[in-house]
Amino acid sequence: MNEFELIQKYFKKDPLDPFVVLGNGDDAAVFAPRYDSEAVISVDAVIAGRHVPDLCPPDGFAARLMGRGLSDLAAMGATPRYVLLSLSLPTLEPGWVDHFASRFHQLCVRFGVDLIGGDTTKGPLSAHLTVIGDVPRGKAIDRDGLKAGDDLWLFGPDLGGARAYLGVLNQGEQDQEIWAERYWRPEPQIDSGIALRGVANAMIDISDGLCQDLLHLLDRATKSTAVNLQSRKLPLCEHLVARLGLDKALEYALTGGDDYCLLASIPPDLRVPPNGKLIGMVVKSESDRILLDGNPLPEFWQLGWDHNL
Ligand code: ADP
Ligand code: MG
Repeated sequence: MNEFELIQKYFKKDPLDPFVVLGNGDDAAVFAPRYDSEAVISVDAVIAGRHVPDLCPPDGFAARLMGRGLSDLAAMGATPRYVLLSLSLPTLEPGWVDHFASRFHQLCVRFGVDLIGGDTTKGPLSAHLTVIGDVPRGKAIDRDGLKAGDDLWLFGPDLGGARAYLGVLNQGEQDQEIWAERYWRPEPQIDSGIALRGVANAMIDISDGLCQDLLHLLDRATKSTAVNLQSRKLPLCEHLVARLGLDKALEYALTGGDDYCLLASIPPDLRVPPNGKLIGMVVKSESDRILLDGNPLPEFWQLGWDHNL
């Protein structure tokens, strides 16, 4: 199968969104902006051997690619509209790509996005997904604005499971199914992000580990602003404490990454969407930026992933 046939067979789709003037199949896509809205756009890479294991199941690759991309839109409070898929495949033969494409399109339907373009080439397994969404004018939720007196809220599934799955995988343990869902089926928190427009002072999605991503919010806040997390309030993924003990469970939950929850700083007098979990408070501290039950974090904790290392 050549590149053209592969695109025709797997990636040519008629757009459902009425604002799309021209979907994929031309030199570029065309869509009309929605009235009184602002466009929100981001791109993310998923590279086999770096962001996912070398031997990566096609449906998991699709779900992680989409989950990671759409989670960035969720973190801005945006409604997802379109995606562009730039794909590099070791072989252009059907098989792997068949499963990848069917999961990918399933997720497009589920999250209400149209695939309006992309690029396909032969090469090491990797993909870049461009995501495009929008928010009502002035309503995008950025990382600025966390301040002392705010509460810190978490939206999304329980923490630490994706990190624990990688541990299981690396150690070649027998029971690989445990926590696999949390790694291979990330759930971007689109509805929560939308519900937090006009509510959250600052927001970020947890991709690299709760503490590391929280530091990005603290970097933008005024000096000597800190967050005191309450360990009892942290939602820990199922089986974590039983299998690994409380200390390791907390470490994975706070530094593990790949959780794709939303972390939002919200003034205490505002009404918070019902699925939120209150996990800490923004306080003043001269010495530490993140505290756990009032104490500094254990020194040996590595605060999260750095893909550049
Ligand atoms: P060009 O030579 O202009 O880059 P291509 O042959 O790469 O054109 O692509 C032809 C059309 O197919 C374009 O509209 C492009 O957006 C679309 N396309 C290519 N690969 C993909 C893909 N993986 N997913 C979606 N659309 C794709
Ligand atoms: Mg091209």
